[in-house]
Amino acid sequence: MFNLVIFGPPGAGKGTQSAKIIDKYKLAHISTGDMFRMHISQDTALGKRVKQILADGLLVPDSITIDMLEEEVQRNPHATGFIFDGFPRTVTQAEALDTFLEGKGEKIDLVLQLDVTEEEIKNRIAERKKVSGRADDDEDKLIKRIDEYFSKTIHVLPYYQNQGKVVKINGIGQVEGIFGMICAAIDAAK
Ligand code: ADP
Repeated sequence: MFNLVIFGPPGAGKGTQSAKIIDKYKLAHISTGDMFRMHISQDTALGKRVKQILADGLLVPDSITIDMLEEEVQRNPHATGFIFDGFPRTVTQAEALDTFLEGKGEKIDLVLQLDVTEEEIKNRIAERKKVSGRADDDEDKLIKRIDEYFSKTIHVLPYYQNQGKVVKINGIGQVEGIFGMICAAIDAAK
């Protein structure tokens, strides 16, 4: 198996690059943000619990997120590897993921850090807002999401750096050029 975490602030391009990675490397894609949005649109019990949290741009509690993620991994027993997009977002989630994978005789092989400036993120999300219809793309909610990123999620980086797994990719430039750098990092780690 080859397991990858794609890491970066909101608007870094995680979703865009994940789609290209899955296509080329045939990994199973798990986006916790997409999963939460699906639960909300289908009005499931989980969707009802998290709806306001997402709308406010805050992180969903770890226990809910970890349970949902583990179930999704279990649902894909034949996957040759996973790309985790938007997870882990806290050190507690990162530790839980390591423990969970260890129990399956697996591990995270690579963490791709998409590096973009705060100014670029704000510009991109203002553009995305015009087509995404996402309530959390409003500017005040975006500020909350960026706050959450710099207060909680950023600590996931040293956690994986200590394991020697992080490759930093410049996330500003052409989508294809960034994808080329990502492929080089994956091929080197495989
Ligand atoms: P973005 O990367 O643009 O912020 P996502 O689609 O990854 O968007 O996430 C949207 C929202 O879903 C987050 O703001 C948060 O409320 C919730 N969420 C997604 N993943 C997690 C996670 N791992 N832990 C807690 N909350 C999460």
